[in-house]
Amino acid sequence: MILLERLIEALGSDAVKAAPEDLAAYAFDAYTDGGTPSAIVLPGSTRDVSATVKIARDCGEPIVARGAGTGLCGGAVPTVGGVVLSFARMNRILEFDERNRRARVQPGVINLDLSRHAAASGLFYAPDPSSQQVSTLGGNIATNAGGPHCLSYGTTVNHVLGLEVVDAGGEVFSTSVEDAGYDLTAALVGSEGTLGIVTSAWLRLSELPESVRVSLAAFDDIDSASEAVSAVIAAGILPTALEMMDAVIVRAVEAAFHAGYPTEAAAVLLVENAGLREDVAAAQDAIESIVLQHAARSWRSAESRTERDALWAGRKGAAGATGRIAPNYYTQDVCVPRSKLPQALRAVEAAARANGITVGNVFHAGDGNLHPLLMYDRRDRRQVGAVVETGNEILQCAIELGGTISGEHGIGWEKREAMTRVYSTADLAAMARVRDVFDPAGALNPEKIFPRGARCPEVVPP
Ligand SMILES: Cc1cc2nc3c(=O)[nH]c(=O)nc-3n(C[C@H](O)[C@H](O)[C@H](O)COP(=O)(O)OP(=O)(O)OC[C@H]3O[C@@H](n4cnc5c(N)ncnc54)[C@H](O)[C@@H]3O)c2cc1C
Repeated sequence: MILLERLIEALGSDAVKAAPEDLAAYAFDAYTDGGTPSAIVLPGSTRDVSATVKIARDCGEPIVARGAGTGLCGGAVPTVGGVVLSFARMNRILEFDERNRRARVQPGVINLDLSRHAAASGLFYAPDPSSQQVSTLGGNIATNAGGPHCLSYGTTVNHVLGLEVVDAGGEVFSTSVEDAGYDLTAALVGSEGTLGIVTSAWLRLSELPESVRVSLAAFDDIDSASEAVSAVIAAGILPTALEMMDAVIVRAVEAAFHAGYPTEAAAVLLVENAGLREDVAAAQDAIESIVLQHAARSWRSAESRTERDALWAGRKGAAGATGRIAPNYYTQDVCVPRSKLPQALRAVEAAARANGITVGNVFHAGDGNLHPLLMYDRRDRRQVGAVVETGNEILQCAIELGGTISGEHGIGWEKREAMTRVYSTADLAAMARVRDVFDPAGALNPEKIFPRGARCPEVVPP
């Protein structure tokens, strides 16, 4: 038990957990469970993180960073054991620089807490994953999280100005987007804890808009709704957010939130425009006219802040609302070109029907980023198999339509084998070389992103 003794000596017993119930609690994330860690460390500072990495390295233990564990691809699961670094205690906003519209945060700060803090200064943090009430900024950075408002504001990578990172050897380094030379900040964002451990970040804050309008368009069929999405973007209009929900989701959401969603519609579009009052009004009018030309049966705008918030609460709470349909759900995350949305949605429906699975679609339509929620009961092996098969067919369909295997949730453990479907051996070898530079021993979050057995020696051609 040299590992535990050394960790306790360096960080104190409060920061180190190794009771069976603690280890069990950190063996899973929102995707799956797997692997029992040797220890859980709750660092209070960058120095604690550095000491932990050095001790783990000496003891031959891998390191898995963990935020809130809301990841949907097994990214924070310690599949080969090791030390889990949980950032629950590093949850402070360290500096708030209103003048330069930026903040320096520890990785354990909850996404929404930053926007709440910034609101008093008329600012907010734009990337807003639907998990923003619980997911951490460290996890968001590591997965390059997206969200409804990323259609117009860009994903997390567009809002990270600099990072403090502990490398695989336990040394601390900093990056800034203002650095000359390689943009290491962008390289680290989305690296899923495999290149370094983020211990603080400078994040860009955006100005709260003067005016915000949220509207709901209801359709009698999904194809018309998808075509309306393509038409809006093709017309050169970029709403702040453009989200779609199908009938299965709308009914579940309305039953849970009573937000005024039309339960008889086959699909709804939630449209938000934000900015200067005149611009918002013009965009709303233009979008209304396009959706009506695409057979929308109704177009309704929220009349108050309360009504607007209720519509968003329904959208962001959609996954939880599906608990009324089945005890479990699996979220697939793929992207297709927007013009291929109708085909993609038809393929999702066909795959689910063929496998006897109920599917509900709730997704970032403006980005072509589908999130079919496959509903099932995990106690039933047949249903589990059917969900795996459906998810696989959806993945393949996205690839065939010219899309990608992950829109925003990342690759993690779940999709690492699928990497070979979209990348050649040479592509993977190039990525593995990058990883090797940061972490030659492969100690940071092993078994993630790269296909099984694909450590550099296997991927890199001799
Ligand atoms: C209901 C629901 C809705 C969701 N909606 C969205 C959405 O709209 N958009 C979206 O992008 N995602 C969404 N997600 C997925 C998930 O919330 C995001 O991937 C989120 O960024 C994960 O943050 P976390 O703090 O939970 O990280 P975790 O799940 O704990 O970790 C995720 C990854 O980040 C790594 N990591 C964590 N902290 C650090 C660190 N300090 N340094 C280095 N690596 C680190 C982990 O090792 C792991 O690989 C949703 C999930 C749920 C359950």
